[in-house]
Amino acid sequence: MPLPRALLFDLDDTLAESFELPTPEIIERVMRMLDQVPVAIITGRDFPWMERSFLPALTLAPHVDRFFLFPEGAAQCLQWNGTTWKDWYAKSITPEERERIRKAVETSVRETNVLDGLAISGAQFVQKRAMVAFAALGVEVPGNLKYSWDPDNARRRALRDAIAAKLPEFDVLMGGATSIDVTEKGINKSYGVRWLSEHLRIPASEMLYIGDALFPGGNDEVVKQTGIQTQATKGPSETAVIIDSLLAQYQAAK
Ligand SMILES: [Mg+2]
Repeated sequence: MPLPRALLFDLDDTLAESFELPTPEIIERVMRMLDQVPVAIITGRDFPWMERSFLPALTLAPHVDRFFLFPEGAAQCLQWNGTTWKDWYAKSITPEERERIRKAVETSVRETNVLDGLAISGAQFVQKRAMVAFAALGVEVPGNLKYSWDPDNARRRALRDAIAAKLPEFDVLMGGATSIDVTEKGINKSYGVRWLSEHLRIPASEMLYIGDALFPGGNDEVVKQTGIQTQATKGPSETAVIIDSLLAQYQAAK
């Protein structure tokens, strides 16, 4: 395929481990990629956390003007204007909707027995402006448990299906290794891909999306409906190899 004219990355288990920070080596690669093409991060995480943690480093990139951030599964889009992060758009859900989501999740956990006998570490419900994220084992779950709970996605798929059946007006998607994201219907990563395609005037088919959850029901799979090219990764170390290969190709094409 011709080299992509823009790159879009998932964050959890793509640029960083679930609930953790991207390493300085990954940030540096994203900055180098910005020297070539527009880059976006589309993630279920919320903006305040990213603003405090790794975004300050990215604002130092010479081509930060080509960088787009889509938090909360693309319910929001921001760009650095040289002084501050400015919203292009920002959706939200109501307190009543949050409550309905919470009840549907709690009922579904009981029905599916996917957490029976397991210890929970920290908060399970992460409330964002436009999304409720359910971290099944809690947000402080140790890494070894995080990746051994549901290696074949079977538990999350059962839970996801049970929740989705109760919330037909929402999108219910598998996010990180233990998490499920609930957003207003249609406000998901495909929304962000279409917005960026229109904004940059680049057809989705000429852009590349890199993510770990492109499998059925995964929160990256929805981007496929836009016609964007996709590349699966198993985590940040594989993503680094993918980026290095792309950088070499852009360099060779000059
Ligand atoms: Mg992911």
